[in-house]
Amino acid sequence: MAKIAMKTPLVEMDGDEMTRILWQMIKDKLILPYVDLKTAYYDLGLKHRDETDDQVTADSANAALRLGVAVKCATITPNAQRVEEYGLKKMWKSPNGTIRAMMDGTVFRTPILVPGISPCVRNWKKPITIARHAYGDVYKNTEIRVPGPGKAELCFTDEEGRETRETIMDFGGSGIIQGIHNTDKSILSFAHSCFRRALDMKQDLWFSAKDTISKTYDHRFKDIFAEVYEADYKRAFEEAGITYFYTLIDDAVARVIRSEGGFIWALKNYDGDVMSDMLATAFGSLAMMTSVLVAPTGQYEYEAAHGTVTRHYYRYLKGEDTSTNPVATIFAWTGALRKRGELDGTDDLCAFADRLEKATLDTIAGGQMTGDLARLFEGEAQTLTSAQFMDAIAARM
Ligand code: NAP
Ligand code: MG
Repeated sequence: MAKIAMKTPLVEMDGDEMTRILWQMIKDKLILPYVDLKTAYYDLGLKHRDETDDQVTADSANAALRLGVAVKCATITPNAQRVEEYGLKKMWKSPNGTIRAMMDGTVFRTPILVPGISPCVRNWKKPITIARHAYGDVYKNTEIRVPGPGKAELCFTDEEGRETRETIMDFGGSGIIQGIHNTDKSILSFAHSCFRRALDMKQDLWFSAKDTISKTYDHRFKDIFAEVYEADYKRAFEEAGITYFYTLIDDAVARVIRSEGGFIWALKNYDGDVMSDMLATAFGSLAMMTSVLVAPTGQYEYEAAHGTVTRHYYRYLKGEDTSTNPVATIFAWTGALRKRGELDGTDDLCAFADRLEKATLDTIAGGQMTGDLARLFEGEAQTLTSAQFMDAIAARM
């Protein structure tokens, strides 16, 4: 059988530890036998990031912006312990943070559902995708601990030196103050990425905030979303048969729990942080959560939501066969290949992505899986090593 051809290369961002091992197995066992794979390869493994003074991370993000579609392996975000372990020149920044800043994108996280592993919320039939605004608010705050009585003010000085002031509080005793901000530019990028992704997925988009209480701050988010929708997406949404709707966050939470899923939920930074952990857990397993970074200008970077699974890697280094779940990383590849196929008009590449996903899910539904899933599976489950699991998928392919 002739291998499936690709027109434009995928940007391939290799990574660290156990996921780097899985990465190679996925390519060898599940992709290279079928696809004449073309990639622009960037080694984001920590050693190579250090050797290149992290230039490789910036280069890979530029390649993603240029070529349009990237697939990324999980990478180590260095801390003090890693600096010592790898003898690093510096405590390099998180590659995901660097790539997200350069692509100015929003991260969408979607759980992979499999028959035999039910979400905690029984009426959830389809995945719920969370879009978290990843800039500003409490994550870029300024805080003061107020020692005693005094006046706290909010003051903005424009370029001409004119001041706008609001009293925050006349403190009668000790307390705390916090200053947060966001920018119209960042909220606009967030809105465009969300509307784009909803059209891609042909799913409704919900956005929720607390505009009834925060009449200027949260209201600005609501207004920008409404303006962007009216100006740029309304007609496309109507043609696609999907809707955009805004609702207060309290109302949204109640509706999400009652829903059957199958929509995108856009959230401000803190809400998205908290709700994505809740949804991931309620849907099953971190190892079944996919993630895609969508730039407002239409570029995509696909990855698994989990990390490099360090604990399993140390066992692997001792010669043990581990049962690390490769599903989210397989789906990062299929997501990227399908998007590449859509952009290039290569239908067999899209069809291949569909087949690989189906073979993966059928293998699990058929009772063969890694240990993390076997613990959740309702039925007879055979626990396989990562390699055996991928061989079982390949056999189905
Ligand atoms: P992690 O790699 O996600 O692993 C945490 C634990 O979750 C694992 O020890 C394992 O539990 C379970 N797990 C996660 N993925 C799994 C999979 N595919 N199959 C089976 N079990 C899985 O998080 P971490 O240990 O906090 O972080 C490790 C490294 O990853 C850190 O250096 C961090 O900087 C990096 N990280 C990278 C990304 C990214 O690149 N996107 C994201 C998060 C973390 P058991 O050990 O109980 O089996
Ligand atoms: Mg969190």
